[in-house]
Amino acid sequence: MPKKYVYYFTAGRAEGDRDMKDILGGKGANLAEMAGIGLPVPPGFTISTEVCNLFYLSGNKLPREVENQVAAALKRLEKETGWKLGDEKDPLLVSVRSGAKFSMPGMMDTILNLGLNDRTVEGLARKSGNRRFALDCYRRLIHMFGDVVLGVPKKKFEEILKARKEKIGVKGDNELKEKDLEALIADYKALIEQETGSEFPQDVRDQLRLAVAAVFGSWNNPRAITYRRQYHIPDDLGTAVNVQTMVFGNLGPASATGVGFTRNPATGVKEVYGEYLVNAQGEDVVAGIRTPSPLRELEREMPAVFKQLIGITSKLEKHYRDVQDFEFTIQEGKLYMLQTRNGKRTGLAAVKIAVDLVEEGLLKKEEALLKVEPDALNQLLHPVFDLEEKAGHEVVAKGLAASPGAAAGQVVFNAEEAVRWKERGKRVILVREETSPDDIHGMSASQGILTATGGMTSHAAVVGRQMGKPAVVGCGAARVDEERRRMTVAGRVFKEGDWISIDGGTGEVLEGDIKTKPSEIIQVIQGALKPEESETYRYFVKLLSWADRVRRLKVRANSDTPRDARTAYAFGAQGIGLARTEHMFFGPDRLPIVREMIMAASEEKRRAALARLLPMQRQDFYEFFKEMHGNPVTIRTIDPPLHEFLPSREELMVEVAVLKATNGDPARLAEAEKLLARVRELSEFNPMLGHRGCRLGITYPEITEMQAQAIFEAACALAKEGQKVFPEIMVPLVGSVRELSNQKEIIVRKAQEVMKAAGVKLKYTVGTMIEIPRGALTADEVAAEAEFFSFGTNDLTQTVFGLSRDDGGKFLNYYLRKGIWPDDPFETIDEKGVGLLMKIAVDKGRATRPGLKVGICGVHGGDPRSIKFCHRIGLDYVSCSAYQIPIARLSAAQAALEDVGRKPVVKGRDRAGARRAAARKRPGRK
Ligand code: ADP
Ligand code: MG
Ligand code: MG
Repeated sequence: MPKKYVYYFTAGRAEGDRDMKDILGGKGANLAEMAGIGLPVPPGFTISTEVCNLFYLSGNKLPREVENQVAAALKRLEKETGWKLGDEKDPLLVSVRSGAKFSMPGMMDTILNLGLNDRTVEGLARKSGNRRFALDCYRRLIHMFGDVVLGVPKKKFEEILKARKEKIGVKGDNELKEKDLEALIADYKALIEQETGSEFPQDVRDQLRLAVAAVFGSWNNPRAITYRRQYHIPDDLGTAVNVQTMVFGNLGPASATGVGFTRNPATGVKEVYGEYLVNAQGEDVVAGIRTPSPLRELEREMPAVFKQLIGITSKLEKHYRDVQDFEFTIQEGKLYMLQTRNGKRTGLAAVKIAVDLVEEGLLKKEEALLKVEPDALNQLLHPVFDLEEKAGHEVVAKGLAASPGAAAGQVVFNAEEAVRWKERGKRVILVREETSPDDIHGMSASQGILTATGGMTSHAAVVGRQMGKPAVVGCGAARVDEERRRMTVAGRVFKEGDWISIDGGTGEVLEGDIKTKPSEIIQVIQGALKPEESETYRYFVKLLSWADRVRRLKVRANSDTPRDARTAYAFGAQGIGLARTEHMFFGPDRLPIVREMIMAASEEKRRAALARLLPMQRQDFYEFFKEMHGNPVTIRTIDPPLHEFLPSREELMVEVAVLKATNGDPARLAEAEKLLARVRELSEFNPMLGHRGCRLGITYPEITEMQAQAIFEAACALAKEGQKVFPEIMVPLVGSVRELSNQKEIIVRKAQEVMKAAGVKLKYTVGTMIEIPRGALTADEVAAEAEFFSFGTNDLTQTVFGLSRDDGGKFLNYYLRKGIWPDDPFETIDEKGVGLLMKIAVDKGRATRPGLKVGICGVHGGDPRSIKFCHRIGLDYVSCSAYQIPIARLSAAQAALEDVGRKPVVKGRDRAGARRAAARKRPGRK
């Protein structure tokens, strides 16, 4: 039997179901599912995603076998409906809809009313008894088909439509009369002929063939490709094509079309949420052409249909056990479901919904943890407007609160400008009449989005929520003139570059650049707000406490200051994974001493300078240990090349030249010349690969000695005060075991000296950063000395790729756009190369030293995909910046839940954990 490529569905019976997203795409699988459980879904069929690849392989054509299966499915559809494609009396009309495995809003284009031509349109007119309606469908088809299939710019259709409406003095499309529509159809057809040199196809079979090909073709339109890159969707998944019998929301006042969510996707609150338009079709609701009515009004307008709709959608929410985003059409009082999918939501809503669904008994905790994108937690940390500041600014208009968050920026009126301004380091608010998929890059470059038209489910609103960008939409009071780059609102004119602020949580638009303040969660973390005063915080903590009970990976923080460490601890850090000692060298009280040390002509002088640094370092370490309450603190010995602590060569050369030319202070001149000479001496062709890391500690052992002494003196002091301390001293840039043993000998000697003098015994370990390939490849030898490894994946990525991160920027974007590299390796661990090396190091290291503790401290430690990789190769912990700790906790939990070998469960109330937390007295923890 030939392979099945086409799957039929009709209410009560379907060949597919929701688990077949891979081959039916999300839309097709859910249409099949809804039909299968008996919901009123117009019948149709889905051409599988596998055909998409076949289509490209056969030179943008459908293979014969697929054509045959499509013909058979079409016959079945005709038989079931009693209508026929192209029939003049009883014409069957269909929509041709794209739908990939992952929903890609607005990326792929849908064609409605396919099957109409000059003759069938009259058949539809007779059959419906409504010629205006038939003509309305026909002009829509020509417009969509012209745009999507024939490539005639949609702007040209829109201009014709606008001109026609202006000519007869109407605003809405729904006010167009029969003769206006006839004229419009004639103009559209003429446009197509003029633009393509051929007629709008009257053969309906051609229409279908071309439309299917166009949907498959649109998989590779630039918008779709950009979207896939941004959301890491593989290029070879392909889209399915759904061919579905049309139902009509534009058949008069008892007809309508609408969209909705089973819960508020901005806040997560359980309420009726959505919009509809009477006498409208398809995208009218979301395109922002007319401002739609809130779904709640449907209850008054069509109570029976409303009741049925709510019944179906709550059934869908229970069935899918997640918030549903649905599309429906009412044709003369009869309800049809056209789509359902798990609703996209803001981070705030995601957390609330996940927790609520558990409490409503719909989800298990483990399932709820998998429902929240770790990165979305970031949105809960975004700043909000400072209310006092806000009071001083005028609210110039109010729109719909589409995506929460506070944003202030300079107004720009198109996506390109938004990107350009952003590149120049500016904050911008993108203001548009309405947005479309072409604006995505501009939306992404903006602080927030403001549109004049469109509802809560318009493009701007949906994408804003998805990106976590504040958005105010449907701001009717704003008149936006994109051409002239100005917005008029409440009698005020805002030109490009003027400042506005928007509050996506209230819908307010304010003049000026309003200061923001930390989000509720940050306020709780910093102790400015009590946990019981913030519902958001309670939800956040609850979800993360479940995460903590399933994850195996520990989460630590990279902190350079005791203040960072305190924040990290409040966010749940279980230790410090990287404290960079040199950061402390840059303090204004220290830099002169550090320079003195570097300039020292002899070891003796160098030691004298180091002796003055010692108490300062000791104080830093003391505070670090104190903030971490006995959790491990990994301190790295000096790492950067010494010239980084000296003034730049250019700076000095200018100073010397000026002093000479102006006969300046001779003492200063001598000093500048001396500095310059040393800078020249230290200058390297490639400092990244030069005299740095342990190479410094080896050639200047007195530096390592001083640092070790400071660490152990601080630790002993705290121990004497009765606090637990656990120092882990980490030697950077080790490529051979001999380097490590050299440094370890110094550290251990100092530890013994200091402990003996203090009369204290402490547990501590000495380990190394694995950040150059040789260190990883000889990890079995290195592990003989190292008591722990920590992957420095920033340098490891640079050295594995032979690419400096600072220089990669020039072409990296090009590589990513072209798909030469799938991801930025400095953002997400390159599993095949860098990852392989990590795995080798883990295995070799543990072969020598079973149970070797291994972590990661590169920026990848805060990246969800990299964290999951770290789990899979058996790391013990990840370390990331303080603000990424929530992301890391959740990612680590998801990694454990996705790990097929383990089936962790969230145990009932974890009392011991609660006690431990209370004992640690974290701010905001009860
Ligand atoms: P998208 O993926 O962009 O949402 P859809 O395929 O869902 O595109 O279709 C676009 C619009 O057309 C939606 O509003 C949808 O409800 C409507 N639509 C699609 N198929 C039909 C149909 N058979 N009858 C009526 N409306 C339809
Ligand atoms: Mg669309
Ligand atoms: Mg849709």
